[in-house]
Amino acid sequence: MSILVYIEHADGSVKKTSLEAISYAKALSSITSEGEVIAVALGSIASDELSKAGSAGASKVIHVNDDKLSSGIIQAHAEAVAQVFKKVGAKTLVLAKSSLGDAVASRLAIKLDASLVSNVVALPDLTSGYKVKRSIYTGKAFAETVANKENRILAVKKNAVDLKTDGPAAAIETTSLELSPDNFATKITSTDKATGEILLPEADIVVSGGRGMKGPENWGLIEDLAKELGAATGCSKPVSDIGWRPHHEHVGQTGVKVAPSLYVAVGISGAIQHLAGVNSSKCIVVINKDAEAPFFKAADYGIVGDAFEVLPKLTEAVKAL
Ligand code: FAD
Repeated sequence: MSILVYIEHADGSVKKTSLEAISYAKALSSITSEGEVIAVALGSIASDELSKAGSAGASKVIHVNDDKLSSGIIQAHAEAVAQVFKKVGAKTLVLAKSSLGDAVASRLAIKLDASLVSNVVALPDLTSGYKVKRSIYTGKAFAETVANKENRILAVKKNAVDLKTDGPAAAIETTSLELSPDNFATKITSTDKATGEILLPEADIVVSGGRGMKGPENWGLIEDLAKELGAATGCSKPVSDIGWRPHHEHVGQTGVKVAPSLYVAVGISGAIQHLAGVNSSKCIVVINKDAEAPFFKAADYGIVGDAFEVLPKLTEAVKAL
């Protein structure tokens, strides 16, 4: 028996969220009798990169190195993972909670007749059934769900588990699968890919600006700090509504939900709808000239000051590190 982990990768690298899923699976294997952790990767990616899955806890990576799987066609991914799941005799599939993860997991739940629990934040409580704690209402509450089917799929929330980094390199097994053309019925004719930018949903650090930045001409201050921190840039809803920033940067209840290690909010008041998109961040730093701004209540660190004075100083200080 084994626990299978579905690995996501982009631009030649395994995503950190998938390494977290492997770490979760490794910890899970220590409280169940499910044996080793095996990861499955689809499409082209270098073996050296895949072997890193070992440091997070996988003993083996099954690499289905079929170029047709590189474009991320969801139906084909679900079918490929289902086949590997059965081949390795797994009962549990772990993956990262993400857009791709959601799409693949829901299809797999049908294919494998499995209980699906999403946004998992802790190992299951096995004392009475298989009770899994998950985050709900954009991180404001937790629920416990009993995964009562023989097969289970657990989608782990970003930043919810400690990343294990001390395992040995994983063995790589390259394999091919019989995938019928029906699985490739969806044709991706073009993709619009941001280059040179750190993608907001994946970012480990986010610097976000609100209406307090006064206008798009001042966004250089946000970008300078983001560049020094290796961060993605985000914004509040009104900022994208007015057209100061593109819509894909809008963070919050109606926009992108982020869970970075560090979220820096500049000139954002901290309305509940904005907080709904950021309250899973590990550390929140707020810069606002109004000491009464609601965002300070959610902040780990706050700077009461004018963004136009604070940002250049902060950027210089980070540069000097
Ligand atoms: P403001 O509320 O105008 O706040 C600007 C802040 O900047 C103030 O706190 C001010 O003190 C500070 N400031 C001004 N000048 C400076 C300066 N020089 N230096 C430092 N600080 C300064 N909003 C979202 O962001 N995301 C959402 O997903 C979202 N969804 C919504 C859904 C619904 C159904 C509704 C009704 C609203 C939603 N909103 C959302 C809007 C939300 O309620 C707030 O209106 C919005 O977040 C406010 O944006 P802001 O903080 O940038 O602007």
